[in-house]
Amino acid sequence: MAIIDEQNVVIQPLRKTWYKGKVAAIDMLRLDALHPVVSGNKWYKLRLNLARAADLHLKTVVTFGGAWSNHLVATAYAARHFGLASVGLVRGNGTITPSLQQCRDYGMEIIFISHDDFKNRHLPGYTEELVKHFDDLYIIPEGGANERGRTGAGLINRFVAGKYTHVALAVGTGTTMAGLRNSTPATQYMIGFVPMPRTEEQATYITDHTTGKDGTWHMEADKTFGGFGKWNNELLQFMNDFYAENAIPLDVVYTGKMMYRLQEMLNDQYFNSTDRILCIHSGGLQGNASVQEHLVYGK
Ligand SMILES: *Cc1c(COP(=O)(O)O)cnc(C)c1O
Repeated sequence: MAIIDEQNVVIQPLRKTWYKGKVAAIDMLRLDALHPVVSGNKWYKLRLNLARAADLHLKTVVTFGGAWSNHLVATAYAARHFGLASVGLVRGNGTITPSLQQCRDYGMEIIFISHDDFKNRHLPGYTEELVKHFDDLYIIPEGGANERGRTGAGLINRFVAGKYTHVALAVGTGTTMAGLRNSTPATQYMIGFVPMPRTEEQATYITDHTTGKDGTWHMEADKTFGGFGKWNNELLQFMNDFYAENAIPLDVVYTGKMMYRLQEMLNDQYFNSTDRILCIHSGGLQGNASVQEHLVYGK
């Protein structure tokens, strides 16, 4: 197994032609380069959870996800890295998608659960009952959205130099943004890009899980592509053009939409010409499998 190694992470400047004097600099933190499987922010959300499970001498990590979940694949791989067994409780119809097959290949046991079971997963003792035939459980919520997930994500701050005036990142649950908002100075303004038309849920999550950071961040919604996981030719063309100019592969669910929206904000002159932006590439490239035939990279 390839070692998960932060040395693989680099900060790559975008070509000046991409932001043409609208800001002073845009760099991208290539967390996607961390590891081919446990890429991006998922590792940071998992690492303190898995270390805790190992410290407690627990044997089995249990977590949740959908049939295409990057979090499940990352958990399967990373759990094995820590010598832990893993179980994925999947809301789905029993179809083994390529993502779930990958989970199995890394030793995860996949158990399909009903939508009702999935909804009830937060009730006390409910998950334990679902997996009662396994011993010594450590349960991680979907998306790694717990305190250790946020604290682990906060460790991404080691890459966020003081020279940046803005940090841009893609948001799903908000776990990564909450952790990093807590661990970086309030003077560095943070913009969360939600790949959906509404942002209330994620904004509430940040408000509830940060302290002393009111007014130092906001969310941008995706009003162009019609919802989570939705895409069209315009987005794919944008991703191909971005790759041609910057040699950075974006993913179709999160970072492609983030950079598309960021470009709109540059064109709308949201930023000052002296601003320096660090964009976080949170990975997710395995999710491009579904659009691979349309992309000029990743083949
Ligand atoms: C999971 C994921 C996110 C969302 O992270 P949260 O901590 O849930 O907000 C962002 N980008 C990529 C590429 C992801 O796979």
